[in-house]
Amino acid sequence: MAVVRERRQVNLRLPLPDLSDRCSRFPLPLPPSASTTAAAASASVTISQTELEKLQVLGHGNGGTVYKVQHKRTSKIYALKVVNGDSDVTVHRQVSREMEILRRTDSPHIVRCYGTYVKPSGDVAILMEYMDAGTLDTLLRTRGTFSEPELAHITRQILKGLTYLHAHKIIHRDLKPSNLLVNKNMEVKIADFGVSKIMSRRLDPCNSYVGTCAYMSPERFDPDAHGGNYDGYLGDIWSLGLTLMELYVGHFPFLSPDQRPDWATLMCAICFGDPPTLPQGASDEFRSFIECCLQKESSKRWTASQLLDHPFLRSHPTSD
Ligand code: ATP
Ligand code: MG
Repeated sequence: MAVVRERRQVNLRLPLPDLSDRCSRFPLPLPPSASTTAAAASASVTISQTELEKLQVLGHGNGGTVYKVQHKRTSKIYALKVVNGDSDVTVHRQVSREMEILRRTDSPHIVRCYGTYVKPSGDVAILMEYMDAGTLDTLLRTRGTFSEPELAHITRQILKGLTYLHAHKIIHRDLKPSNLLVNKNMEVKIADFGVSKIMSRRLDPCNSYVGTCAYMSPERFDPDAHGGNYDGYLGDIWSLGLTLMELYVGHFPFLSPDQRPDWATLMCAICFGDPPTLPQGASDEFRSFIECCLQKESSKRWTASQLLDHPFLRSHPTSD
C-alpha cells in the first residue's frame, strides 16, 4: 500500500503545449459573480460568499484549494473550491471552464454547483455540494479494493453521468478515481471539469494534451498514429475502463504496483502494449465489460449508453 501511495504522489500531468497552439490567447470569459446553476435557481438558493465559514481544507488540486464550508444562516455544509487571483492563466482558464460546465449541468450524477464567485481581486470560487465520503481514490486507499457488485453500482452511476454529459456534448477528459466523488450513501458523482471540453460542433477536433496522462487513451496520447482525429467521447470510455480496473486490482492497471509511472513508461505501455486484462477470478461479464472499454481501436469501444445495457450491469440489477 505504501508503494501505491508513493505512486499516486508522482505528477502524471503532461506538460501543456504552448498556449498559442491550443486556443485563443484569452481565457474564457468569467461568468458573472454569484451566479447560480439551474438546480440552485430552482431551489431558490442564493448564497453570498460572506455567509460561508471555512471549516477545514478538503484537498489541494491543480491550482486551487477545496474547503469544507458552512453556511452560517442554515448550518448547511458545502464544498468551496477557491482559486487565487494570482494563479497563472492556465489555472484561471480551467476554473472558468469548470464554472461554465457546472452552471450548465443538472444531473444527480454530476457534482452540483450552488454558485460561483468572482472577486475584484481576481479570486474565483465555486460552491458545490459536499461529498462526505471523499473520492473513489481515497476510498480505495482507506478501505481497499471493490467487489464486482460494488463496482456495478459505481459503474452504473458513472455511466449515467457520462451519458448525460455526452448527450450535452461535454467531454470530461480527466476521468480517474480522484475525480469521482462519493457520499455516505455510496452515491458517486463526476467532478473536476477543469480540462473538459464542450463540443460546439459534432466534428470539433479535440486533441489538445491536457489532463492526467495516465488515464489517456492511446489515440489521445498519439493522435498522429490514429489518423489525427480522435473521438473524445470514446476517450472518456477508455479512462472509465482503467478507473474500474484500478478499483478492482488496487493499483494503476498498466503498471505493476512497484513500477515508476514516468511519462516514457506510460507512453510505451499505453501506446505500444496490449490493454491490461483482469486477473483470474473476475467474472466473464466483468471481463467483457472491461474489454468493451479498453479497446485500443476507439471505434470498437462501446458508448456510455451501450455500456449501460451491458450484461455486467444486467447481472447486478439495481434495487432502485
Ligand atoms: P487535480 O487537480 O489533479 O485533479 P484534485 O482532483 O485533487 O487534483 P480538485 O478537484 O481541486 O483537485 O479537488 C481537491 C480535493 O478536494 C479532491 O481530491 C477531493 O478530495 C476534495 N473535493 C473536491 N470537491 C469536493 C466536494 N464537492 N466534496 C468533498 N470533497 C471535495
Ligand atoms: Mg481533480
